[in-house]
Amino acid sequence: MKNLLITGGSRGIGRSIALLAAQNGYNIAINYASNPQAADQTLQELAQYTAEYGIKAIAIQADVSSETEVETLFDTAEAGLGKITHLVNSAGVTGKRSRLDQASTADIRRTLEINALGTLLCARAAVQRMSTKHGGLGGVILNLSSAAATLGSPNDYIWYAASKAAIDATTIGLAREVALEGIRVNAIAPGFIATDMAPPERLEQVVPLVPMQRAGTTEEIAAAALFLLSEQSAYTTGAILRIAGGR
Ligand code: NAP
Repeated sequence: MKNLLITGGSRGIGRSIALLAAQNGYNIAINYASNPQAADQTLQELAQYTAEYGIKAIAIQADVSSETEVETLFDTAEAGLGKITHLVNSAGVTGKRSRLDQASTADIRRTLEINALGTLLCARAAVQRMSTKHGGLGGVILNLSSAAATLGSPNDYIWYAASKAAIDATTIGLAREVALEGIRVNAIAPGFIATDMAPPERLEQVVPLVPMQRAGTTEEIAAAALFLLSEQSAYTTGAILRIAGGR
């Protein structure tokens, strides 16, 4: 039984992880916040695998920065699929690009709340259900960090970089905290990946900074995600896998 909940699974990296996981026999719950059309479209794409691979796929609206919505998200996912065995924390935002001295408090707060607090709340909800200490069967948590966590993103969004550094610390700390409770916790730190978060005009500016001189694809992140979710990475926990074309 492989029941995977992907926050921010309706678009971008989360969507590609959902599509690849479905082809590898995972039941999928994709979460989204404010764009039901994108979630519906991804659900339709997943539907082609439900018959072929015998899997279930559902979509659930919830804001990961809300404690009550996160609880409802997990309860709804478990009602639809059964016990959640795998969690990917992909929901994330950057806020408007600027220097810190021009950034709004609202953007800074929202980015920290969705990225850092959202990851902590979802990881907490997962541990409460997965940990053998709480009668669970164990599981796997995978967080989406960013190369920004170590680059700092000057002139772009250092609050976003700070939120991702918080995700790195969460990954390392939680991996050690639950290592004997059947749960592995890892992160992927992508560089520039072509999604709505990094649109083509932005990529043109940043590609020269990448040693491999190109952006990454969501499929390249999904391939690594599937490895970290699977038993092939049984001895890997607390790892932060940088996938950034050498950056
Ligand atoms: P994206 O294409 O912009 O998709 C973001 C996803 O997050 C959407 O499904 C969105 O749902 C969801 N979301 C946003 N706010 C949410 C909230 N409060 N609660 C629940 N879901 C929410 O982003 P992406 O590029 O795939 O990025 C995915 C993750 O990878 C993020 O954590 C990002 O920081 C990280 N990352 C991305 C890049 C990159 O270059 N793309 C690089 C490094 C790290 P709605 O559509 O409903 O709003």
